Amino acid sequence: MGSCMRLLIVEDEVKTATYLRKGLTENGFVVDVAHTGDDGLHLALTGEYDLIILDVGLPERSGWSVVTELRKSGREMPVLFLTARDAVEDRIKGLELGADDYLVKPFTFSELLVRVRTILRRGPLRQPEVLQIADLTIDLLRHKASRGGARLDLTPKEFALLSLLARRKGEVLSRSLIADQVWDMNFDSDTNVVDVAVRRLRTKVDDPFEQKLIHTVRGVGYVLEER
Ligand code: CA
Repeated sequence: MGSCMRLLIVEDEVKTATYLRKGLTENGFVVDVAHTGDDGLHLALTGEYDLIILDVGLPERSGWSVVTELRKSGREMPVLFLTARDAVEDRIKGLELGADDYLVKPFTFSELLVRVRTILRRGPLRQPEVLQIADLTIDLLRHKASRGGARLDLTPKEFALLSLLARRKGEVLSRSLIADQVWDMNFDSDTNVVDVAVRRLRTKVDDPFEQKLIHTVRGVGYVLEER
């Protein structure tokens, strides 16, 4: 993996952009760099990229605006957001706009490399805006979920958690991955914050229904799938 894969880095901190380009190039990627939102959007619209690494805070045009314009133009390449912010609202906003993953600054190069490879391994097709698993429907754009046609009343974090599980349907997600993706926090493995959140989510998503969709994998984490 790596050879022939083309990446675009849009990052206004020149030092960071240079460092990322160097590391990714050494790992076999072909890398272009833009330092403003406008330049990044222009390159993304005119070039063929397998992945865009997109800073949120950019001059001229924010990362949010870049991805909104890309999706409007029908460009479905995956986007990895780099964000200095850790508010759950930012994550939800990014998810609604079609972000594929997040990396919160500061991060190490090896963390970035793992995310990049994971996204590229998932393949070129972005997830659809509406996810359907059995009778569960998740509308990522409108931020709504329903089961059996009945609207589920979810908090923003519950929606983020359910969306994460659904986007990775059939994949067992560890508690630490869930904590990182939904709360941007590193919980100790013995804390039960994720377990409590999953339990609350289950009371809405699974308890009223005969078919359970969220499953516990003991010692590992959680998976959402039809069984
Ligand atoms: Ca920035």
